Amino acid sequence: MLHTNLSINEKGHLCLAGQDVCDLAEKHGTPLFLMDEERIRSNARTYIDAMAEFMPEGSRPLLASKSCCFKKLYSIVAEEGMGTDLVSPGELYTAAAAGFPLENAFFHGNNKTDADIAYAIDSGVGYFVVDNREELDSVNETAGKKGITQNILLRLSPGIDPHTQKKISTGKVDSKFGTAIETGQALEMCRYALTLKNVSLKGFHCHIGSQIFEYESFADAAEIMLRFIRTLFDDCGFTTEMLNLGGGFGVRYVESDPIIDYRENIKGLAGEIKRICRELSIKEPAILMEPGRSIVADSGLTVYSVGSVKTITGYKSYVSVDGGMPDNPRYALYESDYTCLIANKADREPDFSATVAGRCCESGDLIQEDVMLTRPERGDYLAVLVTGAYNFSMASNYNRIPRPPVVMLRDGESYVAVKRETYEDLLRNDM
Ligand SMILES: *Cc1c(COP(=O)(O)O)cnc(C)c1O
Repeated sequence: MLHTNLSINEKGHLCLAGQDVCDLAEKHGTPLFLMDEERIRSNARTYIDAMAEFMPEGSRPLLASKSCCFKKLYSIVAEEGMGTDLVSPGELYTAAAAGFPLENAFFHGNNKTDADIAYAIDSGVGYFVVDNREELDSVNETAGKKGITQNILLRLSPGIDPHTQKKISTGKVDSKFGTAIETGQALEMCRYALTLKNVSLKGFHCHIGSQIFEYESFADAAEIMLRFIRTLFDDCGFTTEMLNLGGGFGVRYVESDPIIDYRENIKGLAGEIKRICRELSIKEPAILMEPGRSIVADSGLTVYSVGSVKTITGYKSYVSVDGGMPDNPRYALYESDYTCLIANKADREPDFSATVAGRCCESGDLIQEDVMLTRPERGDYLAVLVTGAYNFSMASNYNRIPRPPVVMLRDGESYVAVKRETYEDLLRNDM
């Protein structure tokens, strides 16, 4: 099947990590997020091991918290030895609550408030990834008041377009993120940062986008960053310790997506970085990467119950499920591809073309259009594969729908990592 943790059992039911998805749906109810803990761990180890083997000392991956964020996940990746990148005080609070070692946390965001900055410094966050001049001043001032020196990276925009979707491409010169190299503003920011007493500049960050399937785009970004690092060295003798290349490799959501070998790509990227550093006669900085989806996406799937199957004669068919854009807004946001199948009929040929619709009062509340399913009926379980990233973390209570639980699978057992929300939870803050 699409990923090696998916299979079909003798009943014809879809299995994740060897466990019957329909039995789990029976036990925990739908909609339901399932996650394969061992897959998260093995994805983490692939990055950790390859980066340790092929890249300079100190190189390692950081989990991009925005891809998925709850306490247990932080414990799992911390146990494997990943750091993390955080974009909000809420993510930071969650990591802290999980006992995540915050010295390995990198605090991102293009508009951190003074309160966010103070909170992160008080929490002992390892590094700020500073986006802009106002933030730089605020971090310096706040660190000064607390009597510390805060480690920082500066986020730069390398000015390249990795030819991914517009909304998930972020490294272009006119992006809202970071400071542009091309315009000379990045060099100015560095000179300025080096004059400040309560920040210690350790290196640079860039993020060119997501769903990138070969390392060449990362190597292009690395080359621009390394040339900048050389320019800065010539300008003021500054030696860069860390280069953070941002979000990780792409993930296979549908059969037509390529199969990607992360280890080989990390090896290839490491080779390019080594070559460029040699050419530029600079010391190789430690490399950081921030994989999100490639750590968690293929660990997860969503199970829904089918409600109605509506054929508009002469037009099309809709299969409606008991979730939708509140638990997975990605198709509504950017028409993301997903693989859908009827989990209790997984051994039968898909023979029915349908659009999978959610339950919200929005025509755009769709999970996927025109997919082939085994003829569905009310009460069937519909699974959407590879939903471990950007589903739970993007979930909302739109239409006052409680968020689904996250159930983890490990060693033939399942446990609840995040409970299903209740109606009382929905009223928690109503006065
Ligand atoms: C989104 C993002 C990531 C993670 O991207 P994935 O495609 O999930 O690996 C990492 N770093 C930054 C700065 C991001 O914006």
